Amino acid sequence: MSPPRHILKLSLEEQRQFIDSFDLVISDCDGVVWLLVGWIPNTGAAVNALKAAGKQIKFVSNNSFRSEEGYMEMFRHIGAKNVQEDDIVHPVKTIVRYLKKHKPGQRVFSLMSLEANETLRKHNIEFESLQVKEHLTAASLVDHLAIEKPVGAVLFDIHLDLSYVELAKAIRHLQENDDCQLIAGGSDVIMPLAANLNVAGFFDFLEHVKRYTQREATFLGKPSPILGEMFGEMFEIRDCKRCIFIGDTLVQDVQFGKACGFQSLLVLSGCLTKEDMLNAPVEAQPDYYADSLADFTQLLENIQK
Ligand SMILES: [Mg+2]
Repeated sequence: MSPPRHILKLSLEEQRQFIDSFDLVISDCDGVVWLLVGWIPNTGAAVNALKAAGKQIKFVSNNSFRSEEGYMEMFRHIGAKNVQEDDIVHPVKTIVRYLKKHKPGQRVFSLMSLEANETLRKHNIEFESLQVKEHLTAASLVDHLAIEKPVGAVLFDIHLDLSYVELAKAIRHLQENDDCQLIAGGSDVIMPLAANLNVAGFFDFLEHVKRYTQREATFLGKPSPILGEMFGEMFEIRDCKRCIFIGDTLVQDVQFGKACGFQSLLVLSGCLTKEDMLNAPVEAQPDYYADSLADFTQLLENIQK
C-alpha cells in the first residue's frame, strides 16, 4: 500500500481523477468542519464548492450533546448552504433508529445529555433520566436507586453533567433485568475540546458500568459496523468505493471508513499531525490527506482552470 497522498500535491490529472472517483462525501464534524470550541477557516465554502461540483455531502459526528438546532446554527455560521437536519447523523439519532427497530415501544434509561434526551422526546421514546441537584446522603441514594418500572435499555453517550447516582441507577437497571440492553454512542477515549485542549472522553465511565454488570455494550457511533450498515440504508449507498469518508482521527474516522469499504481522507485540522498519521501502521493510514476541508475549494479551482 502506498503512503497517503496530499490532495493538493496530486498532479492536475490525478486531482481530476480523484474528484471523479466519488459521488458521496461523508464527513466527520468536530475537527473537520469546525472545532468543538472554535472554527476552522473556509470550511463552509468547501462544502458549497463540493455541492456545486455535484457531490452529495452528509455529516456524521460522535457528538450528541449539541442539539439539532445547535448543529444547524453551526452550519449557518460557517456559511454552508442547504444543509438539512437529515444530512446530519449522530449517536442519539442512530440510537432512536435502533430502538424503533429492535425495542419498539419500550421505556429506556438515559445516561445522555439534556440535548440528546430532547431528541428522544421528539421521537416519542419514553425515557427515565436522573438529574439530582441536591446533596446526597446514603439514605437519599437508596431512594433514588429504587426501580419503579423496568427498562428495555440503558443508553450511554457523552453527558457532561454525568453523576455517580446516574451511573449507579443504570447499573441497577441492568442488574435487575437480564433483557435490558446496554446501548452506547461513541467509544472515544479522548475528547478534543478546543485548539490544544484534549480531555478524557467518556469511555471509562462506560467501562465502569460494564464492569459492575458483566454486560457488553452495543455501539451505535463511529466506528461501529452497525453504523456503517445504517449508512447503507440511510444514504442508499450502492457502491461503497464511490463514497469518501473524511475525518480527523485514525480509529473513529479512517479505520471506520475503510471498514465500510469507503475511500478515506484524513484532515490535519483536528487532533492529529502529519507525523501521527505517518507513524501509524500502514493499514491504519488513509488513502489521502489534506490540511483542511478547505483544500477542496483550491482543488476544485485547480481543475476548473
Ligand atoms: Mg472529529
